[in-house]
Amino acid sequence: MGANASAMAALSPDYVRHISPYVPGKPIEELAREYGLVESQIVKLASNENPRGPSPKVRAAIAAAAAGVTRYPDGNGFALKQALAARFGVGLDQIVLGNGSNDVLELATQAFLRPGDHTVYAQHAFAVYALATQARGARGIEVRARDLGHDLAAMRTALTEETRIVFVANPNNPTGTWLPPAQVQTFVESVPSGVLIVLDEAYNEYLQADQQANSASWIAAHPNLIVSRTFSKAYGLAGLRVGYGIADPGVADMLNRVRQPFNVNSIAQAAALAALADDDYVAESARLNRDGLAQLMHGLDAIGVPYLPSHGNFLMVRVADPGEGAAPVYEALLRRGVIVRPVANYGLPEWLRVTVGLAEENARFLSALGAALGK
Ligand SMILES: *Cc1c(COP(=O)(O)O)cnc(C)c1O
Repeated sequence: MGANASAMAALSPDYVRHISPYVPGKPIEELAREYGLVESQIVKLASNENPRGPSPKVRAAIAAAAAGVTRYPDGNGFALKQALAARFGVGLDQIVLGNGSNDVLELATQAFLRPGDHTVYAQHAFAVYALATQARGARGIEVRARDLGHDLAAMRTALTEETRIVFVANPNNPTGTWLPPAQVQTFVESVPSGVLIVLDEAYNEYLQADQQANSASWIAAHPNLIVSRTFSKAYGLAGLRVGYGIADPGVADMLNRVRQPFNVNSIAQAAALAALADDDYVAESARLNRDGLAQLMHGLDAIGVPYLPSHGNFLMVRVADPGEGAAPVYEALLRRGVIVRPVANYGLPEWLRVTVGLAEENARFLSALGAALGK
């Protein structure tokens, strides 16, 4: 079977065969199976999901939408686009809906990259930028981080005639690093108009109001800017897969041409529409997240474990000395029923990323980590 499989794989282009697959957080069911643990005793803090569950209004919208699933969804996502356009003060023709914002990132690369083109992104940036680049036969240029965050000046310098897309994650995952809006705006203004800027704001809703950029308003002057947002994180809809891009109409048109006609399902559209209207849920999620981050930092301080302050709903924790890996600590946490995320594939072998959970889940993580480290 092995020989056959590799013969078949050889039919695929080099640039596809060389892709290292995205490694998701370990599912609860898998850990239960592998370690003989009880699912209800497992705490998953590995995928930056909202620990609260969907809001009652969203649950009601999902239940109502379930009755309509024999029909195809609205391929134009009219109601959701209308609500988003009103929220951001842009035209309907400036919104692109995605099967998660991951889809929006993919669509940008599908619509604008030719094989051999370059994209630019930061060291330790979200893994999908490299994956989407490779899948198009394009070449990713990784720009060295500064203090584990994006070095925008170096990223500007890295742009060449070959560059078609530059990715900026703000805040970034997995580092939680954040750039003030004024710095991002200056960067956007400095990028040549022939280079698309994909500004990934998946964690925007977790920022304090005065930290949030009004980035959609920059598009009028900078039609090469695509702003990407998601319902997966603060809105609590990761399992339904819905995100969106805001762009110049000409750019949005190209993304829509390569999009699957029905890429966002009907339940997801209904849920996202209800979630968008539920500002209280998002505000409460952000507040709980700030409390959870404080709880984690306080607990880590108490056992003397270093971490990187974060602007997202997750925290990078350094659990090994330079030259050692975090794998033994990751395994020890698994044995105690706590799933976090290794980030060695991000060039951060000594670190683990933990998602902010409910207070009791954070406490479980802290005590499991203390035990794992013998503290
Ligand atoms: C989670 C995440 C996304 C995308 O998530 P979707 O569920 O596909 O919307 C995009 N960018 C970053 C930086 C993320 O962490």
